Amino acid sequence: MREKIVAGNWKMNKSFLEAEEVLSEMTDLLAEREEQDTKVIVCPPFVFLELAIDLSYEGQFEVGAQNVSEFENGAYTGEVSAEMIRSMDISYCIVGHSERRKHFHETDEMIKNKVDRLISNNISPIFCCGEQLTEREASRHLNVVKSQLKKSLFHLPPEEFRNVIIAYEPVWAIGTGVNATPEQAQEMHAYIRELVEKQYRKEIAENCTILYGGSCNASNAHALFSNPDVDGGLIGGASLKAKEFSAIVSALG
Ligand code: PEP
Repeated sequence: MREKIVAGNWKMNKSFLEAEEVLSEMTDLLAEREEQDTKVIVCPPFVFLELAIDLSYEGQFEVGAQNVSEFENGAYTGEVSAEMIRSMDISYCIVGHSERRKHFHETDEMIKNKVDRLISNNISPIFCCGEQLTEREASRHLNVVKSQLKKSLFHLPPEEFRNVIIAYEPVWAIGTGVNATPEQAQEMHAYIRELVEKQYRKEIAENCTILYGGSCNASNAHALFSNPDVDGGLIGGASLKAKEFSAIVSALG
């Protein structure tokens, strides 16, 4: 189902006490919203998932994971399986983030395996895709994203694909303070929706939630979210501050 979503990717930030503090403040601020129809998902590091679940009891946000192992279970020291995430009643997990592609050398094939693990455990992948600056400068951005979707996502049958949330995150916009313009975001989101329609069907494309991510903050969120094909945002740095994050949620309505 197409939903309005703002998801926060905390990356590798915060101590336990800081996490507790920001989540409590966020709960209070989110409770003051006039419109409550935007779904808020907070994705802290694994070690704070239980804390976040405990603090989500007022229903102001849901909790997601930032990563999952491509393997099922067993002798993979340091890894966390989809089954473990599911066993904590977590329904969302980021996958394919550019930082994992870059620093942990995750390939399209590995990301595809992770998507499969999540889907078979009833966890919605928040599937990140996006081009490098050089690829945009060479006008290859559409093809790059098309290839990422084809290689790691479009193998899913339609009924499984329905559970996927797509996040378009141009790599040059992540953590740089340079966001895509609303026009650039809309162009890519409309293109992704078109690809989904071609691969599946119109009804599935219309119901697909596509988020924008990359230096989104309280000042630019409204302009980015006003586009017809932008259903919300995946927020990195600005999700670490309760006031800023709540303002971004309010910008979506
Ligand atoms: C992200 O890491 O998913 C992200 C969008 O980061 P930032 O908002 O900090 O650019």
